[in-house]
Amino acid sequence: MICQLFNPDLIPIDKELIKAVIKRDVGCRKCFTKENLHVHHILPRSSSGKDTMENLICLCASCHRRQDLKFDRLRYLTIFEKRQIEENIRNARGLQ
Ligand SMILES: [Zn+2]
Ligand SMILES: [Zn+2]
Repeated sequence: MICQLFNPDLIPIDKELIKAVIKRDVGCRKCFTKENLHVHHILPRSSSGKDTMENLICLCASCHRRQDLKFDRLRYLTIFEKRQIEENIRNARGLQ
């Protein structure tokens, strides 16, 4: 029931908050199933996402996995791009 598959810190979300999010969303926000519900951080904790109603949505297990993988890839690309830029700067300095 808890979004922790890709969470760096495994502090569980407050149980009352989970109940409130599931009550608000009723089922998965993507495919509307009511089975295997998880609570997912829109902005992950690793990016200073908070445990609030606004930052939490209800997803089923399979939509959740897809969503977290998508974010993980985005984050990887960002780090990769950052490295590229840093390398370009270093190379440019070396040529001066
Ligand atoms: Zn779903
Ligand atoms: Zn998640």
